[in-house]
Amino acid sequence: MSTHDDAILDDAERWRSRDLAVLWHPCTQMREHQTIEGRNVLPLLPVARGDGAWLVGQDGRRYLDAVSSWWVNLHGHAEPRIAEAVARQARTLEQVILAGCSHPPAVELAERLLAIAPREAGRAPLAKVFYADNGSAGIEVALKMAFHWFRNRGDEPRRTKFVALHNGYHGETIGALSVGDIPLYRRIYAPLLMDAIFAPSPDAYLARDGQSAEGCANDAADALAHLLDEHAGEVCALVLEPLVQCAGGMRMHHPAYLRRVRELCDVHGIFLVADEIAVGFGRTGTMFACEQAGVQPDLLCLSKGLTGGFLPLAAVLATQAIYDGFLDDSRERAFLHSHSYTGNPLACAAALASLDIFEADDVLARNRGTAARMRALAEPIAKLPHVADVRQTGMILAFELARDGDRRTPFDPALRIGLRAYRAALERGVLLRPLGDVLYWMPPYCVDDAQLALLAETTAAAIREASACA
Ligand SMILES: *Cc1c(COP(=O)(O)O)cnc(C)c1O
Repeated sequence: MSTHDDAILDDAERWRSRDLAVLWHPCTQMREHQTIEGRNVLPLLPVARGDGAWLVGQDGRRYLDAVSSWWVNLHGHAEPRIAEAVARQARTLEQVILAGCSHPPAVELAERLLAIAPREAGRAPLAKVFYADNGSAGIEVALKMAFHWFRNRGDEPRRTKFVALHNGYHGETIGALSVGDIPLYRRIYAPLLMDAIFAPSPDAYLARDGQSAEGCANDAADALAHLLDEHAGEVCALVLEPLVQCAGGMRMHHPAYLRRVRELCDVHGIFLVADEIAVGFGRTGTMFACEQAGVQPDLLCLSKGLTGGFLPLAAVLATQAIYDGFLDDSRERAFLHSHSYTGNPLACAAALASLDIFEADDVLARNRGTAARMRALAEPIAKLPHVADVRQTGMILAFELARDGDRRTPFDPALRIGLRAYRAALERGVLLRPLGDVLYWMPPYCVDDAQLALLAETTAAAIREASACA
């Protein structure tokens, strides 16, 4: 190796130690980044810049971002059109208080989101947009709105409960965590959380004895119907992730479930909150996942891909009926919720530029081709002995690893198979951060054929290497 390469590697190492001296990373046991006897469990990857689907490390190497940087990136890193829109907006108006003031990007983005939001024949469309600044905050907004709407109607104090799904995820703030059901994130904080009512997940992976995905969906909907009867009059809203429970391991369900849920919410007069924070903006093949069931929610939560992955922003879309429930002479009946950066102009400008790219590049059509190539590339990987399930919804493809591929017996968690696969992939130039023992492909939409081939080859090698220890 030349002295030039040595210098680059030293530089990466320097960044690693400067980082660990001062930063506390999200969702991380920091102990795993510590180097003990020349080794660490989890190598920290210092990134210098992004370029399309690539991340360029401080070590000068390229890494394929197979997880779209926690599912936020849509059109590639440092996308020039979004970068330019943000720069232009920064020179014009960087931020203004949105209480009492207005600005063009916030208005224009609201108009465009409402124009593309899911529609259902015979139902009044989503009509108003409330901004927040991250996904969890968006969920808090939706929960508070649903609760407060019933209060304003005079239904106090009975409707205080939310229904959510087993294995669902809605964020990390206390309210959002209360309607989430991932033990690793939730258990420790349980004493702080509000009581939610959890209904069975329609997850098709849970199917037994040749049951179809639709059968699973119907069973889960039947169970939900019972639960709602039991709690009649106590519930203000039901919150779910349509089509894919992402953080719960990319577990997927049949759209029939969403149609049944919509009917049940109507029968019980409760709001349906669709959390499309991860699945919105083309991830599942359609612009929004609800479209595949022909269902329109009462509240739609968007974030993550909303700005193309450039800036934090969330939008909660509500019906006119919900909005009208807050109109009054009393301030207390208003929705007195705010975040300092509500509707930040830079973030709105990025979101508008991202929507322009959907149109200019016909992204959804291009993704259909990409999704088909992903499916074909996954086929041989499905045959590996420890791959128990391969599932796909649009631009999300997941591999469930298990001890006996066919019998779906999980690996001993202590083996940390997913983490081993992560390391093996990173060494081969792919960032493939797993969820437990689920590896998944959720690449930026600009991913090309050569990158997909690298992704497939690396995934197969990582699965072989990781499961060799079992
Ligand atoms: C990521 C996520 C959230 C939380 O969003 P943050 O911006 O991380 O707070 C909520 N719901 C779903 C479905 C998510 O995937």
